[in-house]
Amino acid sequence: MAVNVNSGIILTTVEEVLSWGRRNSLWPVSIGLACCAIEMMHTAASRFDTDRLGIIFRGSPRQSDVLIVAGTVVNKVAPMLKLIYEQMPDPKWVISMGGCSSGGGPFPTYSTLQGVDRIIPVDVYIPGCPPTPQALLWGIMELQKKIKAKKEGKELKEIPIKIPAESKPISK
Ligand code: SF4
Repeated sequence: MAVNVNSGIILTTVEEVLSWGRRNSLWPVSIGLACCAIEMMHTAASRFDTDRLGIIFRGSPRQSDVLIVAGTVVNKVAPMLKLIYEQMPDPKWVISMGGCSSGGGPFPTYSTLQGVDRIIPVDVYIPGCPPTPQALLWGIMELQKKIKAKKEGKELKEIPIKIPAESKPISK
């Protein structure tokens, strides 16, 4: 983007404007699965106030472009979560918030999905049990960087996450 302040002229491209608009108006769908969702609600409430950053929670997946998987994904809820993801229009992104959604967390059991990336693609993993609102904001900013990098034709390096050995899938 070229800006000439003195003449009041800005030169840019449609792609640049679209990317800028997308990354600065992320609208997550309002869904929480377990205790991590309390921290997500905290992030949206008055103290951290995500609205001021253009991050506005929506009540319908059809109006949302971000799915924050906040909580334990049990096998029973997994199909509903996948359906919500599929109802979101493109382009869309997924943030895995906390140990449970990233790898089963403290529940290495038959009834818990050992990582939401087994059913939907994940863009950013946020470690923690639960991650703090600051950590969630960090994850959202990483997603913004990823959206910007993709627009520039670069792929952001994978954000590493250490999944404890006991969270690995149980072999039958
Ligand atoms: S990661 Fe921890 S805080 Fe988050 S849903 Fe799992 S048990 Fe609850």
